[in-house]
Amino acid sequence: MSPDAKPNLVAGQWIAGEGVIADINPSDTNDIVGTFARASAHDVEQAVGAAHDAAPAWARSGIQERHDVLESAGREIMARREEIGRLLSREEGKTLGEAVAETIRAARIFDFFAGECLRLSGEKLPSVRPDIDVEISRGPVGVVGIITPWNFPMAIPAWKIAPAICYGNTIVFKPAELVPACAWIMVDILHRAGMPPGTINLVNGPGSAVGQALLDDPRIKAVSFTGSQATGARVAEACVRHMRKVQLEMGGKNPLVVLDDADLENAVECAIDGSFFSTGQRCTASSRLIVTEAIHTRFVEACVERMRRLVVDDALDSRTDVGPVVDANQLHQDQNYIDIGRREGATLRTGGETVNRSKSGFYLEPALFTDSTSEMRINREEIFGPVAAIIRVRDYDEALQVANDTPFGLTAGICTGSLKHATHFKRNAEAGMVMVNLPTAGVDYHVPFGGTKGSSYGPREQGRYAAEFHTTVKTAYTKP
Ligand code: NAD
Repeated sequence: MSPDAKPNLVAGQWIAGEGVIADINPSDTNDIVGTFARASAHDVEQAVGAAHDAAPAWARSGIQERHDVLESAGREIMARREEIGRLLSREEGKTLGEAVAETIRAARIFDFFAGECLRLSGEKLPSVRPDIDVEISRGPVGVVGIITPWNFPMAIPAWKIAPAICYGNTIVFKPAELVPACAWIMVDILHRAGMPPGTINLVNGPGSAVGQALLDDPRIKAVSFTGSQATGARVAEACVRHMRKVQLEMGGKNPLVVLDDADLENAVECAIDGSFFSTGQRCTASSRLIVTEAIHTRFVEACVERMRRLVVDDALDSRTDVGPVVDANQLHQDQNYIDIGRREGATLRTGGETVNRSKSGFYLEPALFTDSTSEMRINREEIFGPVAAIIRVRDYDEALQVANDTPFGLTAGICTGSLKHATHFKRNAEAGMVMVNLPTAGVDYHVPFGGTKGSSYGPREQGRYAAEFHTTVKTAYTKP
Protein backbone atom coordinates (compact mmCIF):
# COMPACT_ATOMS: atom_id res chain seq x y z
CA MET A 1 0.00 0.00 0.00
CA SER A 2 1.19 3.52 -0.77
CA PRO A 3 2.65 5.09 2.40
CA ASP A 4 0.63 8.25 1.65
CA ALA A 5 -2.73 6.48 1.45
CA LYS A 6 -5.18 7.80 4.04
CA PRO A 7 -6.10 4.92 6.36
CA ASN A 8 -9.43 3.60 7.60
CA LEU A 9 -10.59 4.09 11.18
CA VAL A 10 -11.26 0.88 13.11
CA ALA A 11 -11.70 0.72 16.89
CA GLY A 12 -10.21 4.19 17.27
CA GLN A 13 -7.03 3.27 15.32
CA TRP A 14 -6.08 4.46 11.84
CA ILE A 15 -5.19 1.28 9.98
CA ALA A 16 -3.75 0.46 6.57
CA GLY A 17 -5.91 -1.70 4.30
CA GLU A 18 -5.20 -4.14 1.52
CA GLY A 19 -4.85 -1.99 -1.58
CA VAL A 20 -5.48 1.58 -2.51
CA ILE A 21 -8.27 3.69 -4.01
CA ALA A 22 -7.07 6.56 -6.23
CA ASP A 23 -9.38 9.58 -6.00
CA ILE A 24 -9.42 11.32 -9.39
CA ASN A 25 -10.65 14.84 -10.18
CA PRO A 26 -13.34 14.57 -12.91
CA SER A 27 -12.54 18.14 -14.05
CA ASP A 28 -8.89 17.21 -14.59
CA THR A 29 -8.07 13.53 -14.73
CA ASN A 30 -4.36 14.30 -14.27
CA ASP A 31 -5.13 15.61 -10.79
CA ILE A 32 -5.11 12.85 -8.17
CA VAL A 33 -7.00 14.21 -5.18
CA GLY A 34 -5.53 11.57 -2.90
CA THR A 35 -5.12 7.87 -2.25
CA PHE A 36 -7.10 5.95 0.33
CA ALA A 37 -6.71 2.57 1.97
CA ARG A 38 -9.14 -0.09 0.83
CA ALA A 39 -10.54 -2.06 3.76
CA SER A 40 -10.19 -5.85 3.75
CA ALA A 41 -12.96 -8.26 4.82
CA HIS A 42 -11.03 -8.66 8.07
CA ASP A 43 -11.04 -4.86 8.60
CA VAL A 44 -14.83 -4.78 8.15
CA GLU A 45 -15.23 -7.61 10.63
CA GLN A 46 -13.02 -5.76 13.13
CA ALA A 47 -14.90 -2.50 12.54
CA VAL A 48 -18.29 -4.09 13.16
CA GLY A 49 -16.88 -5.89 16.21
CA ALA A 50 -15.53 -2.61 17.60
CA ALA A 51 -18.86 -0.84 17.02
CA HIS A 52 -20.67 -3.75 18.67
CA ASP A 53 -18.36 -3.68 21.72
CA ALA A 54 -18.59 0.10 22.04
CA ALA A 55 -22.40 0.18 21.76
CA PRO A 56 -23.46 -0.44 25.41
CA ALA A 57 -21.23 2.30 26.88
CA TRP A 58 -22.10 4.75 24.11
CA ALA A 59 -25.80 4.05 24.63
CA ARG A 60 -25.34 5.10 28.27
CA SER A 61 -23.27 8.17 27.36
CA GLY A 62 -24.85 11.41 28.45
CA ILE A 63 -26.66 13.72 26.08
CA GLN A 64 -24.15 16.45 26.97
CA GLU A 65 -21.26 14.32 25.66
CA ARG A 66 -23.08 13.57 22.42
CA HIS A 67 -24.15 17.19 22.05
CA ASP A 68 -20.58 18.39 22.50
CA VAL A 69 -19.17 16.02 19.86
CA LEU A 70 -21.82 17.05 17.32
CA GLU A 71 -21.49 20.73 18.08
CA SER A 72 -17.71 20.61 17.83
CA ALA A 73 -17.86 18.72 14.50
CA GLY A 74 -20.36 21.24 13.09
CA ARG A 75 -18.14 24.12 14.19
CA GLU A 76 -15.00 22.65 12.60
CA ILE A 77 -16.77 21.84 9.31
CA MET A 78 -18.16 25.38 9.15
CA ALA A 79 -14.75 26.91 9.90
CA ARG A 80 -13.12 24.79 7.16
CA ARG A 81 -15.94 25.21 4.61
CA GLU A 82 -13.77 26.79 1.90
CA GLU A 83 -11.05 24.12 2.18
CA ILE A 84 -13.50 21.20 2.40
CA GLY A 85 -15.71 22.68 -0.33
CA ARG A 86 -12.70 22.88 -2.62
CA LEU A 87 -11.83 19.27 -1.94
CA LEU A 88 -15.45 18.21 -2.54
CA SER A 89 -15.50 20.11 -5.83
CA ARG A 90 -12.24 18.44 -6.89
CA GLU A 91 -13.34 14.91 -6.10
CA GLU A 92 -17.02 15.05 -7.16
CA GLY A 93 -17.03 17.74 -9.84
CA LYS A 94 -19.84 20.02 -8.64
CA THR A 95 -19.02 23.72 -8.87
CA LEU A 96 -17.09 25.32 -6.03
CA GLY A 97 -20.15 27.38 -5.04
CA GLU A 98 -22.32 24.26 -4.85
CA ALA A 99 -19.61 22.39 -2.96
CA VAL A 100 -19.12 25.10 -0.33
CA ALA A 101 -22.92 25.34 0.10
CA GLU A 102 -23.07 21.57 0.61
CA THR A 103 -20.31 21.77 3.22
CA ILE A 104 -22.18 24.51 5.08
CA ARG A 105 -25.29 22.35 4.95
CA ALA A 106 -23.35 19.44 6.51
CA ALA A 107 -22.16 21.74 9.33
CA ARG A 108 -25.73 22.87 9.99
CA ILE A 109 -26.96 19.27 10.10
CA PHE A 110 -24.44 18.55 12.88
CA ASP A 111 -25.64 21.70 14.67
CA PHE A 112 -29.27 20.66 14.32
CA PHE A 113 -28.67 17.22 15.83
CA ALA A 114 -26.48 18.69 18.58
CA GLY A 115 -29.63 20.58 19.61
CA GLU A 116 -31.80 17.49 19.22
CA CYS A 117 -29.64 15.67 21.81
CA LEU A 118 -30.89 18.15 24.38
CA ARG A 119 -34.50 17.73 23.34
CA LEU A 120 -34.79 13.93 23.62
CA SER A 121 -38.11 13.15 25.21
CA GLY A 122 -40.52 10.36 26.05
CA GLU A 123 -44.08 10.14 27.28
CA LYS A 124 -45.65 9.24 30.59
CA LEU A 125 -49.31 8.26 30.42
CA PRO A 126 -51.98 6.80 32.65
CA SER A 127 -52.76 3.14 32.06
CA VAL A 128 -56.25 1.95 31.17
CA ARG A 129 -55.82 -0.26 34.24
CA PRO A 130 -55.97 1.36 37.70
CA ASP A 131 -52.78 2.27 39.63
CA ILE A 132 -50.40 1.59 36.79
CA ASP A 133 -48.12 4.08 35.00
CA VAL A 134 -47.06 3.74 31.38
CA GLU A 135 -43.81 5.22 30.08
CA ILE A 136 -42.77 5.34 26.45
CA SER A 137 -39.10 6.00 25.75
CA ARG A 138 -36.75 5.87 22.80
CA GLY A 139 -33.36 4.16 23.00
CA PRO A 140 -30.53 3.53 20.53
CA VAL A 141 -30.78 0.72 17.99
CA GLY A 142 -27.14 -0.42 18.34
CA VAL A 143 -24.68 -0.63 15.46
CA VAL A 144 -25.84 1.31 12.41
CA GLY A 145 -24.30 0.56 9.01
CA ILE A 146 -24.17 3.65 6.80
CA ILE A 147 -23.72 3.22 3.03
CA THR A 148 -23.65 6.37 0.90
CA PRO A 149 -23.47 7.43 -2.78
CA TRP A 150 -21.00 9.80 -4.43
CA ASN A 151 -23.22 12.72 -5.38
CA PHE A 152 -23.46 14.50 -1.98
CA PRO A 153 -20.25 13.36 -0.26
CA MET A 154 -20.63 15.72 2.73
CA ALA A 155 -24.37 16.26 3.13
CA ILE A 156 -25.61 12.66 2.88
CA PRO A 157 -23.06 11.18 5.32
CA ALA A 158 -23.84 14.12 7.67
CA TRP A 159 -27.58 13.51 7.61
CA LYS A 160 -27.06 9.83 8.44
CA ILE A 161 -24.12 10.04 10.89
CA ALA A 162 -25.33 13.03 12.95
CA PRO A 163 -28.67 11.46 13.99
CA ALA A 164 -26.98 8.09 14.61
CA ILE A 165 -24.69 9.82 17.13
CA CYS A 166 -27.45 11.99 18.57
CA TYR A 167 -29.61 8.98 19.45
CA GLY A 168 -26.70 6.98 20.92
CA ASN A 169 -25.85 4.49 18.15
CA THR A 170 -22.40 3.34 17.05
CA ILE A 171 -21.46 3.50 13.38
CA VAL A 172 -19.69 1.64 10.60
CA PHE A 173 -19.53 3.99 7.62
CA LYS A 174 -18.92 2.79 4.03
CA PRO A 175 -18.76 5.75 1.62
CA ALA A 176 -18.87 5.53 -2.19
CA GLU A 177 -15.55 4.63 -3.84
CA LEU A 178 -15.49 7.84 -5.91
CA VAL A 179 -15.50 10.21 -2.91
CA PRO A 180 -13.26 8.87 -0.14
CA ALA A 181 -11.69 12.26 0.67
CA CYS A 182 -14.81 13.96 2.09
CA ALA A 183 -15.65 10.82 4.06
CA TRP A 184 -12.15 10.70 5.53
CA ILE A 185 -12.31 14.35 6.59
CA MET A 186 -15.69 13.92 8.27
CA VAL A 187 -14.57 10.85 10.23
CA ASP A 188 -11.28 12.50 11.20
CA ILE A 189 -13.20 15.51 12.53
CA LEU A 190 -15.58 13.31 14.55
CA HIS A 191 -12.71 11.21 15.88
CA ARG A 192 -10.89 14.31 17.11
CA ALA A 193 -14.15 15.81 18.39
CA GLY A 194 -14.21 13.07 21.00
CA MET A 195 -16.06 10.03 19.63
CA PRO A 196 -14.74 7.17 21.84
CA PRO A 197 -12.85 4.28 20.15
CA GLY A 198 -15.19 2.00 18.19
CA THR A 199 -18.16 4.38 18.16
CA ILE A 200 -17.36 5.55 14.63
CA ASN A 201 -15.53 3.36 12.13
CA LEU A 202 -14.62 4.09 8.51
CA VAL A 203 -14.22 1.34 5.92
CA ASN A 204 -13.48 2.52 2.39
CA GLY A 205 -13.80 0.19 -0.58
CA PRO A 206 -16.08 -1.24 -3.23
CA GLY A 207 -19.71 -1.98 -2.49
CA SER A 208 -19.54 -5.52 -3.76
CA ALA A 209 -16.86 -6.43 -1.19
CA VAL A 210 -16.78 -3.94 1.69
CA GLY A 211 -20.49 -2.98 1.52
CA GLN A 212 -21.56 -6.58 1.17
CA ALA A 213 -19.38 -7.70 4.11
CA LEU A 214 -21.08 -5.09 6.24
CA LEU A 215 -24.54 -6.27 5.17
CA ASP A 216 -23.64 -9.88 5.92
CA ASP A 217 -22.63 -9.20 9.54
CA PRO A 218 -25.49 -9.98 11.94
CA ARG A 219 -24.12 -7.55 14.54
CA ILE A 220 -25.29 -4.62 12.38
CA LYS A 221 -28.74 -3.74 13.73
CA ALA A 222 -29.82 -1.12 11.19
CA VAL A 223 -28.70 -0.01 7.74
CA SER A 224 -29.20 3.46 6.30
CA PHE A 225 -28.52 3.40 2.57
CA THR A 226 -28.66 5.97 -0.21
CA GLY A 227 -27.89 4.94 -3.76
CA SER A 228 -29.43 3.30 -6.80
CA GLN A 229 -32.59 1.23 -6.83
CA ALA A 230 -30.72 -1.90 -7.89
CA THR A 231 -28.33 -1.75 -4.93
CA GLY A 232 -31.16 -0.71 -2.63
CA ALA A 233 -33.06 -3.90 -3.44
CA ARG A 234 -29.99 -5.95 -2.52
CA VAL A 235 -29.56 -4.03 0.73
CA ALA A 236 -33.24 -4.54 1.62
CA GLU A 237 -33.05 -8.30 1.03
CA ALA A 238 -29.99 -8.64 3.27
CA CYS A 239 -31.68 -6.59 5.99
CA VAL A 240 -34.84 -8.68 5.93
CA ARG A 241 -32.70 -11.82 6.17
CA HIS A 242 -31.15 -10.44 9.36
CA MET A 243 -34.44 -8.88 10.55
CA ARG A 244 -32.81 -5.52 10.99
CA LYS A 245 -34.12 -2.00 10.45
CA VAL A 246 -33.53 -0.53 7.01
CA GLN A 247 -33.86 2.88 5.44
CA LEU A 248 -33.40 3.25 1.68
CA GLU A 249 -33.22 6.47 -0.34
CA MET A 250 -32.96 5.65 -4.03
CA GLY A 251 -33.46 7.14 -7.44
CA GLY A 252 -35.85 9.64 -8.93
CA LYS A 253 -37.44 10.62 -12.25
CA ASN A 254 -38.82 13.86 -10.98
CA PRO A 255 -41.38 15.86 -12.96
CA LEU A 256 -41.56 19.64 -13.23
CA VAL A 257 -45.00 20.69 -14.52
CA VAL A 258 -45.17 24.08 -16.26
CA LEU A 259 -48.70 25.40 -16.79
CA ASP A 260 -49.81 28.09 -19.24
CA ASP A 261 -50.25 30.60 -16.40
CA ALA A 262 -46.69 30.14 -15.02
CA ASP A 263 -44.27 33.05 -14.71
CA LEU A 264 -42.14 32.09 -17.73
CA GLU A 265 -38.86 33.46 -16.42
CA ASN A 266 -39.21 31.66 -13.08
CA ALA A 267 -40.31 28.42 -14.76
CA VAL A 268 -37.20 28.45 -16.98
CA GLU A 269 -34.94 29.09 -13.98
CA CYS A 270 -36.63 26.22 -12.08
CA ALA A 271 -36.13 23.92 -15.07
CA ILE A 272 -32.48 24.86 -15.68
CA ASP A 273 -31.52 24.69 -12.01
CA GLY A 274 -33.46 21.47 -11.35
CA SER A 275 -32.28 19.69 -14.49
CA PHE A 276 -28.69 20.77 -14.97
CA PHE A 277 -27.12 22.25 -11.85
CA SER A 278 -24.85 19.82 -10.02
CA THR A 279 -24.51 18.34 -13.55
CA GLY A 280 -27.99 16.80 -13.17
CA GLN A 281 -26.50 14.36 -10.67
CA ARG A 282 -29.08 14.88 -7.94
CA CYS A 283 -31.70 12.35 -6.95
CA THR A 284 -34.09 15.33 -6.82
CA ALA A 285 -33.16 16.60 -10.32
CA SER A 286 -36.02 17.36 -12.73
CA SER A 287 -35.61 15.11 -15.73
CA ARG A 288 -39.19 15.30 -17.07
CA LEU A 289 -40.44 18.80 -17.97
CA ILE A 290 -44.19 18.50 -18.51
CA VAL A 291 -45.42 21.60 -20.32
CA THR A 292 -48.93 22.65 -21.37
CA GLU A 293 -49.67 23.73 -24.95
CA ALA A 294 -50.03 27.50 -24.82
CA ILE A 295 -46.68 28.10 -23.12
CA HIS A 296 -44.78 25.21 -24.76
CA THR A 297 -43.09 27.06 -27.64
CA ARG A 298 -42.08 30.07 -25.54
CA PHE A 299 -40.80 27.78 -22.76
CA VAL A 300 -38.69 25.65 -25.13
CA GLU A 301 -37.16 28.69 -26.81
CA ALA A 302 -36.36 30.37 -23.49
CA CYS A 303 -34.78 27.16 -22.12
CA VAL A 304 -32.63 26.72 -25.23
CA GLU A 305 -31.52 30.34 -25.07
CA ARG A 306 -30.67 30.01 -21.36
CA MET A 307 -28.81 26.72 -21.94
CA ARG A 308 -26.59 28.33 -24.59
CA ARG A 309 -25.31 30.67 -21.87
CA LEU A 310 -24.41 27.85 -19.43
CA VAL A 311 -20.66 27.52 -18.98
CA VAL A 312 -19.52 23.90 -18.79
CA ASP A 313 -15.96 23.73 -17.48
CA ASP A 314 -13.62 23.03 -14.57
CA ALA A 315 -15.70 22.91 -11.38
CA LEU A 316 -13.17 25.11 -9.58
CA ASP A 317 -13.42 27.94 -12.13
CA SER A 318 -15.69 30.66 -10.74
CA ARG A 319 -17.32 31.20 -14.17
CA THR A 320 -18.48 27.58 -14.43
CA ASP A 321 -22.23 26.85 -14.14
CA VAL A 322 -22.04 23.11 -14.81
CA GLY A 323 -19.07 20.98 -13.80
CA PRO A 324 -18.04 17.66 -15.36
CA VAL A 325 -19.85 14.34 -15.13
CA VAL A 326 -18.44 12.37 -12.19
CA ASP A 327 -16.53 9.68 -14.12
CA ALA A 328 -16.15 7.83 -17.42
CA ASN A 329 -18.83 5.24 -16.56
CA GLN A 330 -21.45 7.86 -15.78
CA LEU A 331 -20.51 9.81 -18.93
CA HIS A 332 -20.97 6.65 -20.95
CA GLN A 333 -24.38 6.09 -19.33
CA ASP A 334 -25.47 9.67 -20.12
CA GLN A 335 -24.35 9.40 -23.76
CA ASN A 336 -26.06 6.04 -24.09
CA TYR A 337 -29.37 7.53 -22.94
CA ILE A 338 -28.94 10.46 -25.34
CA ASP A 339 -28.63 7.89 -28.17
CA ILE A 340 -31.65 5.99 -26.84
CA GLY A 341 -33.69 9.21 -26.79
CA ARG A 342 -32.78 9.93 -30.41
CA ARG A 343 -33.60 6.37 -31.50
CA GLU A 344 -36.92 6.50 -29.66
CA GLY A 345 -37.91 9.51 -31.80
CA ALA A 346 -37.43 12.42 -29.40
CA THR A 347 -35.80 15.57 -30.83
CA LEU A 348 -32.45 16.51 -29.31
CA ARG A 349 -33.11 20.24 -29.29
CA THR A 350 -29.75 21.33 -27.88
CA GLY A 351 -26.60 19.97 -26.20
CA GLY A 352 -25.72 16.33 -25.61
CA GLU A 353 -22.18 16.50 -27.04
CA THR A 354 -19.01 15.88 -25.08
CA VAL A 355 -16.76 18.93 -25.14
CA ASN A 356 -13.02 19.50 -24.72
CA ARG A 357 -11.75 22.04 -22.26
CA SER A 358 -8.24 23.12 -21.29
CA LYS A 359 -8.09 20.28 -18.76
CA SER A 360 -8.95 16.69 -19.56
CA GLY A 361 -12.26 16.04 -17.82
CA PHE A 362 -15.65 14.39 -18.42
CA TYR A 363 -17.42 17.40 -19.93
CA LEU A 364 -20.89 17.03 -21.41
CA GLU A 365 -23.10 19.83 -22.70
CA PRO A 366 -26.48 19.71 -20.95
CA ALA A 367 -28.99 18.04 -23.25
CA LEU A 368 -32.64 18.98 -23.82
CA PHE A 369 -35.07 16.74 -25.70
CA THR A 370 -38.44 17.89 -27.04
CA ASP A 371 -41.24 15.83 -28.64
CA SER A 372 -40.80 13.12 -26.03
CA THR A 373 -43.53 10.93 -24.57
CA SER A 374 -44.07 9.36 -21.19
CA GLU A 375 -43.47 5.84 -22.57
CA MET A 376 -39.93 6.55 -23.78
CA ARG A 377 -37.08 5.07 -21.77
CA ILE A 378 -35.55 8.53 -21.35
CA ASN A 379 -38.69 9.41 -19.38
CA ARG A 380 -38.92 6.19 -17.39
CA GLU A 381 -35.36 5.33 -16.32
CA GLU A 382 -33.09 7.40 -14.13
CA ILE A 383 -30.24 8.81 -16.26
CA PHE A 384 -28.49 10.74 -13.46
CA GLY A 385 -26.85 13.27 -15.75
CA PRO A 386 -27.51 16.67 -17.36
CA VAL A 387 -30.28 15.35 -19.60
CA ALA A 388 -33.92 16.51 -19.52
CA ALA A 389 -36.88 15.82 -21.78
CA ILE A 390 -39.96 17.95 -22.44
CA ILE A 391 -43.34 16.24 -22.66
CA ARG A 392 -46.06 18.39 -24.19
CA VAL A 393 -49.53 18.00 -22.64
CA ARG A 394 -52.99 19.53 -23.21
CA ASP A 395 -53.87 20.76 -19.74
CA TYR A 396 -53.38 20.40 -16.00
CA ASP A 397 -55.25 17.10 -15.75
CA GLU A 398 -53.04 15.45 -18.34
CA ALA A 399 -49.94 17.04 -16.74
CA LEU A 400 -50.78 15.49 -13.36
CA GLN A 401 -51.45 12.10 -14.93
CA VAL A 402 -48.08 12.18 -16.77
CA ALA A 403 -46.27 13.46 -13.66
CA ASN A 404 -47.51 10.43 -11.72
CA ASP A 405 -46.82 8.00 -14.57
CA THR A 406 -43.49 6.79 -13.15
CA PRO A 407 -42.22 4.05 -10.87
CA PHE A 408 -40.41 6.74 -8.81
CA GLY A 409 -41.79 9.28 -6.35
CA LEU A 410 -39.12 11.46 -4.76
CA THR A 411 -39.96 15.08 -5.67
CA ALA A 412 -42.49 16.75 -7.97
CA GLY A 413 -42.69 20.42 -8.94
CA ILE A 414 -45.25 22.71 -10.51
CA CYS A 415 -44.90 26.24 -11.88
CA THR A 416 -48.25 28.00 -11.94
CA GLY A 417 -50.03 31.16 -10.83
CA SER A 418 -53.14 29.17 -9.96
CA LEU A 419 -53.77 28.48 -6.29
CA LYS A 420 -56.34 25.89 -7.29
CA HIS A 421 -53.89 23.89 -9.40
CA ALA A 422 -51.01 24.30 -6.94
CA THR A 423 -53.20 23.05 -4.09
CA HIS A 424 -54.54 20.12 -6.11
CA PHE A 425 -50.99 19.21 -7.18
CA LYS A 426 -49.66 19.27 -3.60
CA ARG A 427 -52.43 16.86 -2.61
CA ASN A 428 -52.26 14.54 -5.59
CA ALA A 429 -48.65 14.39 -6.82
CA GLU A 430 -47.31 10.95 -5.92
CA ALA A 431 -44.06 12.17 -4.36
CA GLY A 432 -42.57 12.57 -0.91
CA MET A 433 -41.68 16.23 -1.56
CA VAL A 434 -43.64 18.75 -3.63
CA MET A 435 -42.37 22.13 -4.83
CA VAL A 436 -44.54 25.02 -6.04
CA ASN A 437 -42.79 27.62 -8.20
CA LEU A 438 -39.45 26.20 -7.04
CA PRO A 439 -36.95 23.76 -8.57
CA THR A 440 -37.54 20.08 -7.71
CA ALA A 441 -34.05 20.03 -6.14
CA GLY A 442 -33.04 22.07 -3.11
CA VAL A 443 -34.46 21.20 0.30
CA ASP A 444 -34.15 22.36 3.92
CA TYR A 445 -32.15 20.36 6.47
CA HIS A 446 -34.57 20.55 9.43
CA VAL A 447 -37.59 18.84 7.83
CA PRO A 448 -38.17 15.28 6.59
CA PHE A 449 -36.61 14.12 3.33
CA GLY A 450 -37.76 11.10 1.37
CA GLY A 451 -40.06 9.75 -1.29
CA THR A 452 -42.81 7.33 -2.20
CA LYS A 453 -43.08 4.37 -4.62
CA GLY A 454 -39.68 3.11 -5.87
CA SER A 455 -37.71 6.09 -4.51
CA SER A 456 -37.70 5.33 -0.81
CA TYR A 457 -38.32 2.54 1.64
CA GLY A 458 -38.51 2.80 5.41
CA PRO A 459 -38.67 5.80 7.72
CA ARG A 460 -37.86 9.33 6.58
CA GLU A 461 -34.45 10.97 7.01
CA GLN A 462 -33.60 14.41 8.45
CA GLY A 463 -35.25 16.69 10.96
CA ARG A 464 -36.97 15.18 13.97
CA TYR A 465 -38.35 12.39 11.76
CA ALA A 466 -34.85 10.85 11.77
CA ALA A 467 -35.60 9.50 15.27
CA GLU A 468 -37.94 6.91 13.79
CA PHE A 469 -35.07 5.00 12.16
CA HIS A 470 -32.31 5.73 14.66
CA THR A 471 -34.19 4.71 17.80
CA THR A 472 -36.16 1.82 19.12
CA VAL A 473 -39.29 2.41 21.20
CA LYS A 474 -39.82 0.87 24.63
CA THR A 475 -43.12 0.84 26.53
CA ALA A 476 -42.74 0.26 30.29
CA TYR A 477 -45.57 -0.45 32.74
CA THR A 478 -45.11 0.21 36.48
CA LYS A 479 -47.33 -0.65 39.42
CA PRO A 480 -45.89 1.50 42.22
P1 NAD B 1 -24.88 2.86 -6.00
O1 NAD B 1 -26.15 2.15 -5.69
O2 NAD B 1 -24.03 2.36 -7.10
O3 NAD B 1 -23.95 2.88 -4.71
C1 NAD B 1 -24.39 3.41 -3.48
C2 NAD B 1 -23.52 2.82 -2.37
O4 NAD B 1 -23.81 1.42 -2.26
C3 NAD B 1 -22.02 2.94 -2.63
O5 NAD B 1 -21.35 3.22 -1.43
C4 NAD B 1 -21.68 1.54 -3.14
O6 NAD B 1 -20.33 1.21 -2.94
C5 NAD B 1 -22.59 0.69 -2.27
N1 NAD B 1 -22.85 -0.66 -2.79
C6 NAD B 1 -22.84 -1.10 -4.06
N2 NAD B 1 -23.08 -2.42 -4.10
C7 NAD B 1 -23.25 -2.84 -2.82
C8 NAD B 1 -23.54 -4.10 -2.22
N3 NAD B 1 -23.66 -5.22 -2.92
N4 NAD B 1 -23.65 -4.15 -0.88
C9 NAD B 1 -23.53 -3.04 -0.14
N5 NAD B 1 -23.24 -1.82 -0.65
C10 NAD B 1 -23.10 -1.72 -1.98
O7 NAD B 1 -25.27 4.41 -6.22
P2 NAD B 1 -24.31 5.60 -6.67
O8 NAD B 1 -23.98 5.43 -8.12
O9 NAD B 1 -23.19 5.79 -5.70
O10 NAD B 1 -25.27 6.86 -6.48
C11 NAD B 1 -26.19 7.26 -7.45
C12 NAD B 1 -27.59 6.80 -7.06
O11 NAD B 1 -27.91 7.31 -5.77
C13 NAD B 1 -28.67 7.34 -7.98
O12 NAD B 1 -29.58 6.31 -8.28
C14 NAD B 1 -29.35 8.41 -7.14
O13 NAD B 1 -30.68 8.69 -7.48
C15 NAD B 1 -29.23 7.85 -5.78
N6 NAD B 1 -29.39 8.89 -4.77
C16 NAD B 1 -30.56 8.94 -4.07
C17 NAD B 1 -30.75 9.92 -3.12
C18 NAD B 1 -32.03 9.97 -2.32
O14 NAD B 1 -31.98 10.51 -1.24
N7 NAD B 1 -33.12 9.40 -2.80
C19 NAD B 1 -29.76 10.85 -2.87
C20 NAD B 1 -28.59 10.79 -3.62
C21 NAD B 1 -28.40 9.79 -4.56
